[in-house]
Amino acid sequence: MIRKVWVVEGCISCNLCQDLVSEVFEVPAGSTSRPRKGHEKLLNGDLELEERIQEAVDSCPVEVIHAERR
Ligand code: SF4
Repeated sequence: MIRKVWVVEGCISCNLCQDLVSEVFEVPAGSTSRPRKGHEKLLNGDLELEERIQEAVDSCPVEVIHAERR
């Protein structure tokens, strides 16, 4: 189960993570990706959501998305 998601420095604002998991990631205009405020409450074992988060982690072209599992 994913309990924490974060984005480290280096995002190139390609929007992929936001397209894949818009409930968790946002890429504000002119800025880099970040987890949405309050996204933590969505991390409750929803497997479909976790699959999409994992897809974002695996697909980010600069590998800056991290997810911690419990
Ligand atoms: S997929 Fe990676 S590079 Fe693209 S917006 Fe998300 S964090 Fe940034």
